[in-house]
Amino acid sequence: MRRQSAVICLDLGGSFIKLGVMNAQDQLILLDQHKIPATSWDDFTALVRRMIAQHHLQFTASSAVAISTAGIVAPETGEIFASNIPAFHQHSLANELGALLQRQVIVHNDADCFTLAEALAGAGKGHKVVFGAILGSGVGGGLVADGRIITGQNGLTGEWGHGPITLTEVEIGGVVRRLPRKACPCGQKGCLDSYGGARGLENLHQTLHDRTASSVEIIECWQQQDALAQQTVQAWLQIVGQPLAYTINITGASRVAVGGGLASVAPLIAALDEVVQGYVLRRTAHRLVVPGEFAHHGGMMGAALLALQNTHSL
Ligand SMILES: [Zn+2]
Repeated sequence: MRRQSAVICLDLGGSFIKLGVMNAQDQLILLDQHKIPATSWDDFTALVRRMIAQHHLQFTASSAVAISTAGIVAPETGEIFASNIPAFHQHSLANELGALLQRQVIVHNDADCFTLAEALAGAGKGHKVVFGAILGSGVGGGLVADGRIITGQNGLTGEWGHGPITLTEVEIGGVVRRLPRKACPCGQKGCLDSYGGARGLENLHQTLHDRTASSVEIIECWQQQDALAQQTVQAWLQIVGQPLAYTINITGASRVAVGGGLASVAPLIAALDEVVQGYVLRRTAHRLVVPGEFAHHGGMMGAALLALQNTHSL
C-alpha cells in the first residue's frame, strides 16, 4: 500500500541548508535553500521553522523530518559533531529539533545517506554491499549492506580517507619523487584525504610540479593530454585506487558509487575503475566503480529513505 504522507527533507552542509520534500510517489523535490546562520542555535532553529512553514502545503501534520548532515552523529545521544558548523555543533537535532517542530526527526551523516540512496534507488541498486566513496573537496565514505546503513563505532563507518596512503613515492619523468606525509585535521599524518579529493588533487599537482592550479583546470588539462596534468592524474589514480581496492576487499562491496564534485568527471571515474580492478583480489566482469546517480540531492534522498525505514506512520 502506498504511503499517504510526504517526508520533509533537510540537507545541512558547511554553508547551506536545503529543504526538500519526498512526495508519495517517492520523488524528491528541492523547495528552498538558505545560508546557515553562522553560530546561533536559535537563529538556526528559527530558520528551519520558517522554511518548513513557508512550504507547509507540501507536508502533512504527520510528515517526519529526515536530515542529512555534515559531521558525525553520535549513535548513543544523537549529538552532532561538526565543529565547522557552530550553529548546531554538539546539539541533538533528533531530540531538540524534534521537540521544537513537534515532529519525528531522523538524522544521519550525509555520506551514509548518499550511499543508502545509491544502494536502494541508484547506481548500487540490486547489489548486496554498496560502498559510497565521496570524492568532493575531501574524501569520505559510507557503507550499506542488505539495504541498511552500517553505523559503526562512534558513528563512523567507511572513512577510508583517514588512514595513510600506501603509495609513498611516484616516478615523474624518470625521477622518483617522495610524497610528503602531510598533517591531516584528524590528527594523523599522511592521510589519503591530503591527496584524494579535489583539494588533494591540487596539493598533488603542487607537490609534483610546483604549480598552482584548480582541480577543474587540472582535469581540463588532463583531458587535453597536457603532459604535467597527465602525470598528476596518473599518480592520483594510483594513490586513490589502492586504498579503494583494499576497501572493496575488506567490505565485499560489489559496487562503489562515487559522490562529490569529482564524480561528475565520468572519464576520471572510468579510469579509477580500471586502476581499482587491477588491485582487487578478483576482477569483476562488471564495473566496480561508477559515478553515483544522486550527485546533487543524494543526501536528502537517502535521509528520506532512511526515515521510511524507521517510521511506521507514513
Ligand atoms: Zn586524517
